[in-house]
Amino acid sequence: MEKRNIIYSPFSSITFDYKHCFLCGGLLTDSNVSDEHVFPKWLLHKYDLWNQRLCLFNETLIPYKNLTIPCCNDCNGVYLSKLENDIKSAIEHGYKSFMELDEITIFKWMTKLFYGLLFKDLSLSVDRANPQKGHLMEPEMLSKFKIVHVFLQSVKPKVKFTGNVFSLFVFNVHTNPKNDNKLDFFFSDDLLRLQLAIQVGDTGIICCIGEDGIIKESLDNYLKPFYSIKIHPIQFREIIGRVFYKKYILQVPPAYIFVNSEDECSIVSMLSSFTGKYFADIKQKELAYFIYKQLKPLGFTEEDIYHTKLDAVTSYLTNHYGNVHLIDQYGNVISDVTIKHNGYKGDLFPPKNNKPNN
Ligand SMILES: [Zn+2]
Repeated sequence: MEKRNIIYSPFSSITFDYKHCFLCGGLLTDSNVSDEHVFPKWLLHKYDLWNQRLCLFNETLIPYKNLTIPCCNDCNGVYLSKLENDIKSAIEHGYKSFMELDEITIFKWMTKLFYGLLFKDLSLSVDRANPQKGHLMEPEMLSKFKIVHVFLQSVKPKVKFTGNVFSLFVFNVHTNPKNDNKLDFFFSDDLLRLQLAIQVGDTGIICCIGEDGIIKESLDNYLKPFYSIKIHPIQFREIIGRVFYKKYILQVPPAYIFVNSEDECSIVSMLSSFTGKYFADIKQKELAYFIYKQLKPLGFTEEDIYHTKLDAVTSYLTNHYGNVHLIDQYGNVISDVTIKHNGYKGDLFPPKNNKPNN
């Protein structure tokens, strides 16, 4: 019998069609085919997303309900459904119960979301006029995405990784005072830099895939106060902008070693810089743009976030005196509490007005 590689790579043959399982690459037949929803059905129902649209990287607007990818019964029923059930029951019980999940489970789920969208994107970006010419994406980008699929295969017990291959941030977020589920869902991804964020109910999750945990490490001091308080959705979005920007200025690419044994594959990741400088210098205007992109859907303008004259970024996380902003569910700043931010260097600008009225 022909020995199959433990790791399936759709990137070597560029197979992003609907005839093969997205996870294991197995040929799909009428009897073993199933549709895997990128965003699970329970989530679409709960947050009323069924007919809402998401903008893919290639600018296609696609309803959430149509975000399905081809999967075999085995992968769907055995591996993915276990993952989905674990996440579903944790999210349904709220932030506290979500925090009891292990980080690897959350990482796998976030990777599944990311890869599902990537698959959809790649399957739509085949040059339809010349299908044999392949994809409209650069080969360099495709090879970057390859590692995401390898991580995803860790939903099966034969693929393991050692050390950190991701940065994961989980926050407790205020739900809206109107108790309207629709307002407690938010999704944002940065396909090019392998990162994504989601708010589901009172839980906000940000994940950077494949960088040896350096983003989390570098922001830990800054973000520490916000792990122990309940934050406003606007603050969550500001944090997303700051995390995504940090990854943007990371100038050292991670390297991976695959250690294959008879029936297991281990992934070892490494990140090292000869000069010891991992990040490019922060440019306030760029940082402001990353934050603005997250806040734009709520009606913020670029001027709300970036002050040209001062070359400063508005922050909803700390005030001018370096105190952590506590904001209630209604968007009001709780003013009599002062938690001194330990990372404060006096370089943050206070909000111009009490914008967080959502
Ligand atoms: Zn499969």
